[in-house]
Amino acid sequence: MQRIEHIYINGEFVTPHGQEWFDLHNPSTEEVIGQVRLGDEHDAQRAILAAKAAFPAWSRTSREERIQVLWRMHKAIAAREGELMEAILTEYGAPAARGRWMATYPADVIAQAIDALESFAFEEQAGSAKVILTPVGVAGLITPWNSNAGFICNKLATALAAGCTAVIKPSEMSAIQTQIVAEALHEAGLPPGVFNIVNGRGDVVGEEIARHPDVAKISFTGSSAVGQYLVSAGAATMKRVTLELGGKSPTLVLDDADFQEIMPLVLQAGFLNSGQACIAGTRILVPRSRLAEFEAVAKDAVAQFRSGDPRSVDTDIGPMVSRKQWERVQNYIRIGQEEGATLLAGGEGRPEGLHAGWFVKPTLFTQANNQMRIAREEIFGPVLTIIAYEDEADAIAIANDTNYGLSALVLGKSLARCERVARQIDAGRVLINTLSHEPRAPFGGFKHSGLGREMGRWGISAYLEPKALVASAG
Ligand code: NAD
Repeated sequence: MQRIEHIYINGEFVTPHGQEWFDLHNPSTEEVIGQVRLGDEHDAQRAILAAKAAFPAWSRTSREERIQVLWRMHKAIAAREGELMEAILTEYGAPAARGRWMATYPADVIAQAIDALESFAFEEQAGSAKVILTPVGVAGLITPWNSNAGFICNKLATALAAGCTAVIKPSEMSAIQTQIVAEALHEAGLPPGVFNIVNGRGDVVGEEIARHPDVAKISFTGSSAVGQYLVSAGAATMKRVTLELGGKSPTLVLDDADFQEIMPLVLQAGFLNSGQACIAGTRILVPRSRLAEFEAVAKDAVAQFRSGDPRSVDTDIGPMVSRKQWERVQNYIRIGQEEGATLLAGGEGRPEGLHAGWFVKPTLFTQANNQMRIAREEIFGPVLTIIAYEDEADAIAIANDTNYGLSALVLGKSLARCERVARQIDAGRVLINTLSHEPRAPFGGFKHSGLGREMGRWGISAYLEPKALVASAG
């Protein structure tokens, strides 16, 4: 049983002022595997003070100095890949293949921030003005439980690249991953106060960061509801805000697609990260004229998907992160049936043979429409909905008829046609016949999926304020 007692402030592991202990679970067994001591408002204030004190010196570092520090971070985090993998499997239950990606991503994303920093233009000429991009100040970085280590490293590396200092409020549910990251970053020897990490509840530590006048910027990844709240909470102190929120992403299967060929992409997109992925392709739009054929191929393919022990190489889908999340997903499976959608695969309860753990059957609804709650609300589990469309225009209209706009996948034989369709979809990222990630491109959402962008030069820009110098020769 692991006890995580310290938070990280001003270059040191310190005992929090907060007294509350929070249980950590293994979602595959439901057992308590550890406890984390949570910080409170005082701890958040101490961390913000430290980041504020460190800001003047850090904001004046050169590009080269920042690159050196970021490479030290990269090396220290990369050395922890094995430990991160173990934590991700135990604390979070990601299936091994996904877990491997999540364990390597934290170091990779630091390297990507370095790549963006190397060519970033901090100054440019605009007419007679010299425009200088200056760091906004202390950044509050708030992360969710899915891929916690990756989000911490991405946000922190980008904030530091821009010249900001940071206070991180990671998800309290992923404290083992956070501890590994904190130890690695400590070893990297950053100047004290440049980054600080406070475990704590959202409505305590997160709230303090959202309201504190010395925090200039919030970068948040999490639910749309909390994201909306942060915009209003930050308004009083005019915070800059970047939000990466939820999704209800469409997968558009065009009528010329070879269903056998594309089905692995359709299901991998939908069941990504056990369905606990903001970008999961959960609405599968299929031509009505070929619906029966699609259903037959999909049913066979889903039968091959295994939900179970994340350590087993045969497993495609691990457990839900918590009992609450499991119950939420079960509730949506009930709602789908009550709304009149037909279960093509899966359904309520645990997969056969599993008697413990927050496992869900890979579930596929069909005969559904885009007005149903299972088509409109983010379920965050392995529950997908097939929706029939009449023609290409109808497919695009259904794809865009959503509050969200994070990601989309277009599948078809003709690249030109796929691109024509992709251009008409309101989403921050549209993939065509691939699930590959491009870290140099901006990432973020339209509509309720977020505000602003992360990654590449767009990510760095989000921590900077343009200052125009207009001079006369005198
Ligand atoms: P969440 O919104 O419940 O929590 C996210 C973080 O916000 C946690 O650290 C939490 O403690 C904190 N928080 C909660 N209330 C707060 C408050 N009042 N003030 C400040 N902070 C507060 O989300 P979650 O359940 O941890 O994560 C799942 C959600 O994240 C899903 O909706 C998913 O789509 C989204 N997500 C989005 C992306 C993306 O890049 N767009 C990536 C991953 C997850």
